[in-house]
Amino acid sequence: MDFDHSIFLKNIAQTTGQPFMLEVAYAKGIYLYSPDGREYIDMISGIAVSNLGHRHPKVIEAIRNQLDRHLHVMVYGEFIQSSPNLLAKKLTSLLPENLNCAYFTNSGTEANEGALKLAKRYTCRSEIISFRGAYHGSTHGSLSVSGNEVKKYAYRPLLPDVRFLTFNNTAQLDQITARTACVIIEPVQGDAGVRIPDKEYLIALRKRCDQVGALLIFDEIQTGIGRTGKLYAFEHFGVTPDILTSAKALGGGLPIGAFISSYEIMQSLTHDPMLGHITTFGGNPVSCASALAILEVIEQEQLLLQVEDRGELIEKLLDHPKIIEIRRIGLMFAIEFATEEEVYHIVQKCLERGVVCFWFLSCPTSFRIAPPINISVEEIKKACNIIKSAFDEL
Ligand code: PMP
Repeated sequence: MDFDHSIFLKNIAQTTGQPFMLEVAYAKGIYLYSPDGREYIDMISGIAVSNLGHRHPKVIEAIRNQLDRHLHVMVYGEFIQSSPNLLAKKLTSLLPENLNCAYFTNSGTEANEGALKLAKRYTCRSEIISFRGAYHGSTHGSLSVSGNEVKKYAYRPLLPDVRFLTFNNTAQLDQITARTACVIIEPVQGDAGVRIPDKEYLIALRKRCDQVGALLIFDEIQTGIGRTGKLYAFEHFGVTPDILTSAKALGGGLPIGAFISSYEIMQSLTHDPMLGHITTFGGNPVSCASALAILEVIEQEQLLLQVEDRGELIEKLLDHPKIIEIRRIGLMFAIEFATEEEVYHIVQKCLERGVVCFWFLSCPTSFRIAPPINISVEEIKKACNIIKSAFDEL
């Protein structure tokens, strides 16, 4: 298959001057294949999406079964369909008692938009608190609560009444007050370069939100579905949010997001006004079937149990004097070097040698690794040998 790169560059809207330009013909397991049959180890899972690798057979089977039943039949929330029903039942059964009601969206950013609206509606307050370094998505609301000013300034005015605190700084928690509708936080900041807070900090944050009646939203769009060794990262910290947002790996390669809260809180979307959040495609039956299969496979194959060991192995195998720091939780890595140029060199060299690594949005001196959580020890050794050869050339 001969592909015309000019179509990609001219007829598909570009968002960067230097796209990655890897041409993919098909994908299976942890591998991507180019049209000439060249194999690439996917060490980023399409940015924390293909957490069980590409085209897991049970996911494909679930998608096929749903294709034979029906595709879209109605906008969100009107018709009863077994695929979103079964997904909601399974997902909420894996979560704490208060997270028992899911609203399925199309994407991560829409899940956050829904969560922010829900918090404002439920509390009848307007202030939203977020954190420096946060990334919550690219639509207006999510962008308003994201920290990176470089990505925001051209789109102002954004949402008013948003205040930013320093991540993991307990002294600032008193800025959350009885005016605050909600605090939105990634329990581990992803695109800031894998920033892991102290457990005590998240406990204190939960306590402060309870004191002033603000809802706590955990954005687990990147950290969810086993990436950190738990189904959701909040389980590491023993802190439960009022609203959880999920997307990316939830759909196993198909687009889906969710904001999940209590039945009581969610009820506020039904009145004043009714239809408090509307979507045509949210809860798409094929995406829901795929998501259900993902949750079942993780459970049946007990995949969460091996995440920490695999993470440790990668960390050990990549150890190198040029590394400044490795920040890791489970199989979510930021590998920090002295300069942006070094990071650029490493990611390019890895690609040339058949391993896909990638950058962070807001941390140019680190590169990311987030392989499928079912990666084998042999595959890890193979990938780490290649990555290390790029370190050796610095
Ligand atoms: N929140 C977090 C923590 C994310 O990592 C992302 C995507 N990188 C989003 C929200 C936005 O998700 P989406 O791209 O599906 O809109």
